[in-house]
Amino acid sequence: MSARTALRTSQPPVRRCVVCRDSAPKSELLRFVRRPDGEIAVSDQDHGRGAYVHADSACMSEAVTQSKPIAHALRRPLPVGLLDRLGERT
Ligand SMILES: [Zn+2]
Repeated sequence: MSARTALRTSQPPVRRCVVCRDSAPKSELLRFVRRPDGEIAVSDQDHGRGAYVHADSACMSEAVTQSKPIAHALRRPLPVGLLDRLGERT
């Protein structure tokens, strides 16, 4: 397992959905992040503790109706307004 092999077999970054615990390319996942200031947002840019959820499919609706997996991953309850906004997207 050389460094050269690792470069040649580069794959898109994969993250795990906190709802179904399946892995998927980052592009298929929505990233919740707890920013350093404590605010929770949906963003790919912000630094902080992150939690990924499948952007489509049942995972999103499950994440919206029962936010526990995300809240658990971020160690903080989700703000209600954030979930309302996500619900409107689907
Ligand atoms: Zn999922």
